[in-house]
Amino acid sequence: MVNEHKLREEIVRHAHRLHAAGFVAATDGNLSVRMDSRRILTTPTGMSKADLKPYDLVVVDHDGNTLSGRRRPSSELAMHLLIYRMRDDVHAVVHGHPPTATGFAAAGLALNQPLVCEVVIGLGSIPLARYGTPGTPELTDALAPYIPDYDAVLMANHGVVAYGEDVQHAYMKMETVEHFAKIVLVTHQLGRQHILGEPELAKLIEARRKYAGTTSRAAMPLRPAGD
Ligand code: 13P
Ligand code: ZN
Repeated sequence: MVNEHKLREEIVRHAHRLHAAGFVAATDGNLSVRMDSRRILTTPTGMSKADLKPYDLVVVDHDGNTLSGRRRPSSELAMHLLIYRMRDDVHAVVHGHPPTATGFAAAGLALNQPLVCEVVIGLGSIPLARYGTPGTPELTDALAPYIPDYDAVLMANHGVVAYGEDVQHAYMKMETVEHFAKIVLVTHQLGRQHILGEPELAKLIEARRKYAGTTSRAAMPLRPAGD
Protein backbone atom coordinates (compact mmCIF):
# COMPACT_ATOMS: atom_id res chain seq x y z
CA MET A 1 0.00 0.00 0.00
CA VAL A 2 1.41 3.43 -0.90
CA ASN A 3 1.33 6.01 1.83
CA GLU A 4 0.19 9.06 -0.16
CA HIS A 5 0.77 11.42 2.74
CA LYS A 6 4.43 10.31 3.04
CA LEU A 7 5.01 10.58 -0.72
CA ARG A 8 3.60 14.13 -0.74
CA GLU A 9 5.94 15.06 2.11
CA GLU A 10 8.91 13.50 0.28
CA ILE A 11 8.23 15.47 -2.92
CA VAL A 12 7.82 18.72 -0.98
CA ARG A 13 10.97 18.12 1.08
CA HIS A 14 13.04 17.56 -2.08
CA ALA A 15 11.41 20.48 -3.92
CA HIS A 16 12.58 22.69 -1.05
CA ARG A 17 16.08 21.12 -1.24
CA LEU A 18 16.17 21.73 -5.01
CA HIS A 19 15.46 25.43 -4.45
CA ALA A 20 17.77 25.80 -1.43
CA ALA A 21 20.65 24.21 -3.39
CA GLY A 22 20.16 26.74 -6.19
CA PHE A 23 19.27 24.02 -8.70
CA VAL A 24 16.14 25.99 -9.72
CA ALA A 25 15.05 29.64 -9.87
CA ALA A 26 11.60 31.22 -10.07
CA THR A 27 9.15 28.45 -11.02
CA ASP A 28 11.74 26.13 -12.62
CA GLY A 29 11.79 22.39 -12.14
CA ASN A 30 9.34 19.61 -11.44
CA LEU A 31 9.20 16.37 -9.44
CA SER A 32 6.96 13.32 -9.52
CA VAL A 33 6.48 9.91 -7.96
CA ARG A 34 4.85 6.79 -9.42
CA MET A 35 2.32 5.87 -6.72
CA ASP A 36 1.09 2.66 -8.35
CA SER A 37 0.17 1.26 -11.78
CA ARG A 38 -2.66 3.79 -12.06
CA ARG A 39 -1.48 7.01 -10.41
CA ILE A 40 1.40 9.50 -10.49
CA LEU A 41 1.83 12.35 -8.02
CA THR A 42 3.34 15.47 -9.65
CA THR A 43 4.24 19.03 -8.81
CA PRO A 44 1.90 21.65 -10.31
CA THR A 45 2.97 23.94 -13.14
CA GLY A 46 4.23 27.44 -12.46
CA MET A 47 4.95 27.32 -8.71
CA SER A 48 8.16 28.17 -6.89
CA LYS A 49 9.59 24.97 -5.47
CA ALA A 50 10.40 26.97 -2.32
CA ASP A 51 6.70 27.60 -1.63
CA LEU A 52 5.35 24.15 -2.46
CA LYS A 53 3.00 22.51 0.11
CA PRO A 54 1.78 18.89 0.13
CA TYR A 55 -1.76 19.95 -0.89
CA ASP A 56 -0.43 21.73 -4.04
CA LEU A 57 0.49 18.39 -5.67
CA VAL A 58 -1.66 16.88 -8.41
CA VAL A 59 -2.60 13.21 -8.90
CA VAL A 60 -2.69 12.17 -12.57
CA ASP A 61 -3.13 8.86 -14.39
CA HIS A 62 -0.49 7.37 -16.71
CA ASP A 63 -2.07 9.17 -19.68
CA GLY A 64 -1.67 12.52 -17.92
CA ASN A 65 -5.34 13.06 -17.01
CA THR A 66 -5.87 14.83 -13.68
CA LEU A 67 -7.52 12.61 -11.06
CA SER A 68 -7.37 15.03 -8.13
CA GLY A 69 -5.84 18.35 -7.09
CA ARG A 70 -6.81 21.97 -7.50
CA ARG A 71 -3.82 22.98 -9.64
CA ARG A 72 -2.71 22.08 -13.18
CA PRO A 73 0.01 19.40 -13.47
CA SER A 74 3.58 20.26 -14.55
CA SER A 75 3.97 21.24 -18.20
CA GLU A 76 6.77 18.63 -18.39
CA LEU A 77 4.46 15.79 -17.33
CA ALA A 78 4.93 14.02 -20.71
CA MET A 79 8.67 13.69 -19.93
CA HIS A 80 7.89 12.08 -16.54
CA LEU A 81 5.28 9.72 -18.09
CA LEU A 82 7.75 8.66 -20.79
CA ILE A 83 10.41 7.80 -18.20
CA TYR A 84 7.93 5.71 -16.15
CA ARG A 85 6.77 3.96 -19.34
CA MET A 86 10.34 3.11 -20.42
CA ARG A 87 11.79 2.21 -17.00
CA ASP A 88 9.74 0.02 -14.67
CA ASP A 89 12.54 0.23 -12.05
CA VAL A 90 12.03 4.02 -11.77
CA HIS A 91 9.56 5.40 -9.21
CA ALA A 92 10.58 9.07 -9.05
CA VAL A 93 11.72 11.78 -11.49
CA VAL A 94 13.38 15.11 -10.65
CA HIS A 95 13.94 17.88 -13.21
CA GLY A 96 15.87 21.11 -12.55
CA HIS A 97 18.19 23.71 -14.05
CA PRO A 98 21.34 23.42 -11.87
CA PRO A 99 23.60 26.21 -13.18
CA THR A 100 26.89 24.45 -13.85
CA ALA A 101 25.44 21.33 -15.46
CA THR A 102 22.99 23.52 -17.40
CA GLY A 103 26.00 25.61 -18.50
CA PHE A 104 27.50 22.46 -20.03
CA ALA A 105 24.12 21.66 -21.65
CA ALA A 106 24.03 25.22 -23.07
CA ALA A 107 27.61 24.88 -24.34
CA GLY A 108 26.68 21.67 -26.17
CA LEU A 109 28.95 19.56 -23.94
CA ALA A 110 28.04 16.18 -22.46
CA LEU A 111 29.58 15.18 -19.11
CA ASN A 112 30.94 11.99 -20.60
CA GLN A 113 34.62 11.94 -19.69
CA PRO A 114 35.61 9.37 -17.05
CA LEU A 115 37.29 11.80 -14.65
CA VAL A 116 35.86 10.90 -11.22
CA CYS A 117 35.61 7.30 -9.99
CA GLU A 118 32.38 7.66 -7.98
CA VAL A 119 30.57 9.20 -10.95
CA VAL A 120 31.60 6.26 -13.17
CA ILE A 121 30.26 3.87 -10.51
CA GLY A 122 27.03 5.78 -9.85
CA LEU A 123 26.01 7.11 -13.28
CA GLY A 124 28.48 5.88 -15.93
CA SER A 125 28.42 9.18 -17.79
CA ILE A 126 25.85 11.91 -18.39
CA PRO A 127 24.83 12.20 -22.06
CA LEU A 128 23.51 15.35 -23.73
CA ALA A 129 20.10 15.06 -25.42
CA ARG A 130 19.48 17.49 -28.30
CA TYR A 131 17.30 20.56 -27.70
CA GLY A 132 13.52 20.28 -27.70
CA THR A 133 10.95 22.97 -26.86
CA PRO A 134 9.79 22.46 -23.23
CA GLY A 135 6.49 20.64 -22.84
CA THR A 136 6.44 19.33 -26.45
CA PRO A 137 7.08 15.94 -28.11
CA GLU A 138 10.32 17.44 -29.49
CA LEU A 139 11.72 17.31 -25.95
CA THR A 140 10.51 13.77 -25.16
CA ASP A 141 11.71 12.47 -28.56
CA ALA A 142 15.17 13.91 -27.85
CA LEU A 143 15.37 12.20 -24.43
CA ALA A 144 13.90 8.81 -25.37
CA PRO A 145 17.11 7.21 -26.80
CA TYR A 146 18.98 7.81 -23.51
CA ILE A 147 16.34 6.75 -20.98
CA PRO A 148 16.95 2.96 -21.05
CA ASP A 149 20.71 3.26 -20.46
CA TYR A 150 21.15 6.33 -18.23
CA ASP A 151 19.73 7.57 -14.91
CA ALA A 152 20.52 11.26 -15.57
CA VAL A 153 20.52 13.21 -18.85
CA LEU A 154 21.56 16.76 -19.79
CA MET A 155 18.88 18.51 -21.85
CA ALA A 156 20.52 20.88 -24.35
CA ASN A 157 19.97 24.59 -23.61
CA HIS A 158 17.61 23.64 -20.77
CA GLY A 159 18.66 21.57 -17.74
CA VAL A 160 18.91 18.11 -16.24
CA VAL A 161 16.54 15.23 -15.60
CA ALA A 162 17.39 12.45 -13.13
CA TYR A 163 15.35 9.49 -11.93
CA GLY A 164 15.54 6.55 -9.57
CA GLU A 165 13.85 4.18 -7.18
CA ASP A 166 12.50 7.02 -4.99
CA VAL A 167 12.63 10.83 -4.74
CA GLN A 168 15.74 10.83 -2.58
CA HIS A 169 17.74 8.70 -5.05
CA ALA A 170 16.53 10.77 -8.04
CA TYR A 171 17.49 13.96 -6.19
CA MET A 172 20.94 12.61 -5.26
CA LYS A 173 21.63 11.80 -8.92
CA MET A 174 20.81 15.41 -9.82
CA GLU A 175 23.17 16.52 -7.05
CA THR A 176 25.94 14.24 -8.38
CA VAL A 177 25.50 15.65 -11.90
CA GLU A 178 25.86 19.25 -10.66
CA HIS A 179 28.82 18.39 -8.41
CA PHE A 180 30.56 16.55 -11.27
CA ALA A 181 29.89 19.49 -13.63
CA LYS A 182 31.69 21.79 -11.15
CA ILE A 183 34.67 19.41 -11.02
CA VAL A 184 34.83 19.17 -14.82
CA LEU A 185 34.70 22.97 -15.00
CA VAL A 186 37.73 23.14 -12.67
CA THR A 187 39.64 20.77 -14.98
CA HIS A 188 38.83 23.17 -17.85
CA GLN A 189 40.10 26.11 -15.74
CA LEU A 190 43.31 24.18 -14.95
CA GLY A 191 43.68 23.30 -18.61
CA ARG A 192 44.28 19.64 -17.82
CA GLN A 193 42.20 16.47 -17.65
CA HIS A 194 43.55 13.11 -16.56
CA ILE A 195 41.11 10.60 -18.05
CA LEU A 196 40.88 7.24 -16.25
CA GLY A 197 42.38 4.44 -18.33
CA GLU A 198 40.76 1.21 -19.50
CA PRO A 199 42.05 -1.01 -16.63
CA GLU A 200 40.73 1.45 -14.01
CA LEU A 201 37.41 1.74 -15.81
CA ALA A 202 37.01 -2.04 -15.99
CA LYS A 203 37.50 -2.22 -12.20
CA LEU A 204 34.99 0.59 -11.60
CA ILE A 205 32.38 -1.09 -13.79
CA GLU A 206 32.96 -4.31 -11.83
CA ALA A 207 32.57 -2.31 -8.58
CA ARG A 208 29.29 -0.89 -9.91
CA ARG A 209 27.89 -4.42 -10.29
CA LYS A 210 28.60 -5.11 -6.63
CA TYR A 211 27.42 -1.69 -5.47
CA ALA A 212 24.66 -2.26 -2.94
CA GLY A 213 23.14 1.22 -3.06
CA THR A 214 21.36 1.08 -6.41
CA THR A 215 18.40 -0.77 -7.89
CA SER A 216 18.87 0.89 -11.29
CA ARG A 217 18.60 -1.33 -14.33
CA ALA A 218 20.34 1.20 -16.61
CA ALA A 219 23.37 -0.15 -18.51
CA MET A 220 25.24 3.16 -17.87
CA PRO A 221 27.80 2.99 -20.69
CA LEU A 222 30.53 5.61 -20.58
CA ARG A 223 29.51 6.90 -24.00
CA PRO A 224 26.20 6.72 -25.88
CA ALA A 225 26.28 4.56 -29.02
CA GLY A 226 27.51 6.63 -31.97
CA ASP A 227 29.00 9.37 -29.78
P1 13P B 1 6.52 23.50 -14.75
O1 13P B 1 6.36 24.67 -13.80
O2 13P B 1 5.36 23.46 -15.74
O3 13P B 1 6.71 22.19 -14.02
O4 13P B 1 7.80 23.77 -15.65
C1 13P B 1 9.06 24.07 -15.09
C2 13P B 1 10.17 23.70 -16.01
O5 13P B 1 11.31 23.54 -15.56
C3 13P B 1 9.89 23.56 -17.45
O6 13P B 1 10.94 22.93 -18.10
ZN1 ZN C 1 12.86 22.89 -17.18
